Parts: sequence; C-alpha cells; structure tokens
Amino acid sequence: MDLKQYVTTVEDWPKPGISFKDITSIMDNGEAYKYATDQIVEYAKKVNAEVIVGPEARGFITGCPVAYALGVGFAPVRKEGKLPREVIRAEYGLEYGKDVLTMHKDAVKPGQRVLIVDDLLATGGTIDATIRLVEELGGLVVGCAFLIELTYLEGRNKLENYDICTLMQY
Ligand code: IMP
Repeated sequence: MDLKQYVTTVEDWPKPGISFKDITSIMDNGEAYKYATDQIVEYAKKVNAEVIVGPEARGFITGCPVAYALGVGFAPVRKEGKLPREVIRAEYGLEYGKDVLTMHKDAVKPGQRVLIVDDLLATGGTIDATIRLVEELGGLVVGCAFLIELTYLEGRNKLENYDICTLMQY
C-alpha cells in the first residue's frame, strides 16, 4: 500500500511557511491505519520490544495500537503537569524557548527493551528528550519508529546511536 496517498499536506499551518503533514487522514481510513500499524508491529517484533513509549498526543494514536497488537504495555510521555504520580522530566528546545516532557517514575523498568513510537520525526528534539527519560529510568531504547520522517530537518543526526524505522520520507 502506498501510505503517502493518505497523508494530507496543509500549507502554512500552524504558522506561515510550515508545510504540515496531517496524519489524521491515515487514521480515519481503517485499512491504511491497520497497514501502518502492522508495519510498526513487524519492526517491534524484530527489535524484541517489551514496552512501547509514545509522546503526546499523536504518539498515543500511533503507539497504542502497536502495544495492543503485541500484547505489551504502553507508557505515555506527557507535557508537564499532566501525569498524576511522581515523574521525571526532560527539557527540550523549541524554535523559541523550551518545553518539558515528563514520565511516571515507574513507567519503564530497568533493563526493559523499549520501542519509542511517534507520528513524525522532524528535528528530533521530542524523541531526543523521550530517549533521555527512558534511559534515566534504566530502559534500553531498542528502536524508534515513526510514520513520517522529514529528512530535510536531519532529525536522524540527533539519533545516530539508535535504530530508526520510518514508513514514509519527505
Ligand atoms: P521534532 O521534535 O522537531 O522532531 O518534532 C516532532 C514532533 O512535532 C512530533 O511529536 C510531531 O507530532 C510534531 N510535528 C512536527 N511537525 C509535524 C507535522 O508536519 N505533522 C505532524 N506532526 C508534526
């Protein structure tokens, strides 16, 4: 299946000059959503993932069905102030300023094989912060999987020590 036909490009959103890849048009097609999920499930099996970790919010849409298909757990990474129990935090740079991602302290067990899943790899800042959280908890990042990679933003360079799987490249 050519998944790209289900991706909608929205020009100048959320800001002028940004060409936004909208993946909701994959999700609202049952066959395309299943196909994309199955590809990541195959990758997850290959790297022997024991738990899936995904950053809010599209990392949930992409990662949760993978966890369900494998019968493994899913651990959410969220913006500060959203998780109810004790968390660890990681800062990451935005175009202007900083943001913070958090994870529950017991979300990943030491030595657990973790697959990080998100919808899209752009500059890699989100996933770099997510990796730092997982590793602080002692998890082993065995791979990072994305529906889309924006190759011109060179996010891969930030993740050169990790195995990366992307289903579509632009
Ligand atoms: P990065 O941190 O620069 O790699 O940006 C990746 C994060 O921003 C992911 O969590 C994406 O959900 C979101 N993102 C950035 N650009 C797009 C886009 O064009 N479409 C959908 N999500 C995007």
